[in-house]
Amino acid sequence: MAEPLFTRLTLIGIGLIGSSIAHAARKSGLVGEIVVQTRSEKTLKRAEELRIGDFYTLDPAEAVAGADLVIVCVPVGASEDVAKAIGPALKPGAIVSDVGSVKMSVIRQMEPHLPANVHFVPAHPIAGTEHSGPDAGFAELFRNRWCILTPPESTNQNAVERLVEFWTKIGADVEVMSAKHHDLVLAITSHIPHLIAYNIVGTAADMEDNVRQEVIKFSASGFRDFTRIAASDPTMWRDIFLNNKDAVLEMLGRFTEDLTSLQRAIRRGDGDTLFDLFTRTRAIRRGILDIGQDIESPDFGRTPAAEGHGSTNGK
Ligand code: NAP
Repeated sequence: MAEPLFTRLTLIGIGLIGSSIAHAARKSGLVGEIVVQTRSEKTLKRAEELRIGDFYTLDPAEAVAGADLVIVCVPVGASEDVAKAIGPALKPGAIVSDVGSVKMSVIRQMEPHLPANVHFVPAHPIAGTEHSGPDAGFAELFRNRWCILTPPESTNQNAVERLVEFWTKIGADVEVMSAKHHDLVLAITSHIPHLIAYNIVGTAADMEDNVRQEVIKFSASGFRDFTRIAASDPTMWRDIFLNNKDAVLEMLGRFTEDLTSLQRAIRRGDGDTLFDLFTRTRAIRRGILDIGQDIESPDFGRTPAAEGHGSTNGK
């Protein structure tokens, strides 16, 4: 196997994403050793039982000591506290990254607490499932999925390239963009769809008892797929909406305008408007299939992937 790219990888947070990184990095021989840190004794014990890393600790400062790559894998709202805890203990020259689904807020929270002699390269792997915790992780999660890096302009280019290599070698396609652009794009491709799913399932849940039972009983693919998305981790998604407020509200404004015009078209019996939109949207679906970001399948491409995990394209 090739020389490890990093001698010591520390993962702060060992849920779905942290444990998947650990499995993938180990499988591809990219790191010498893996240090696992998490907040609770219960999760730490589970990570140890699953043999996810080589060293385990509840102490973030102890965890990052001597690490040349630190990846923070906690809900985005916890980023500042983590940065405060690890900042003074980081090794000079270390690369510090994260996996948060929102980037501007994570940079705002973390950057002020990191010493000048480390390299901060924020990242977001656009891969996930609706499952959480260390049991949910698997090495193939990032394969053929995008990982977006959003390094601040002053970041050392060599550090960015090393992180690109890390993500590429665990199977991801990497793209570098500004944090602002990332947050706007993800608001429409991921955050608003989740909000719609939470809302539609919430609406069904609030219906009178007899109707609610029928909704569950006859849930066809449309509603059923919304329930899968709406089963995503509540803490993670609360933090995403609170931390990407501006971009989500901007996109939600556009969405609401478009919804209102559909409402009008239905009321007026304007079939042409509906037909034209549904034709255009079909072309978008075709485009996604053509670039291999999903497969043609009646269940939204939700194949039981390797090791029986359902996977989705983006969070
Ligand atoms: P997860 O499975 O729920 O694991 C969360 C980890 O963070 C656990 O180790 C947990 O510790 C720790 N944690 C939770 N709250 C914390 C707090 N307040 N302070 C410190 N540690 C805390 O989460 P995940 O799905 O891996 O998501 C982690 C990050 O990846 C999030 O920022 C999310 O936006 C991003 N992301 C998620 C997906 C996805 O589909 N899930 C996809 C791409 C990116 P304990 O268990 O010990 O409490």
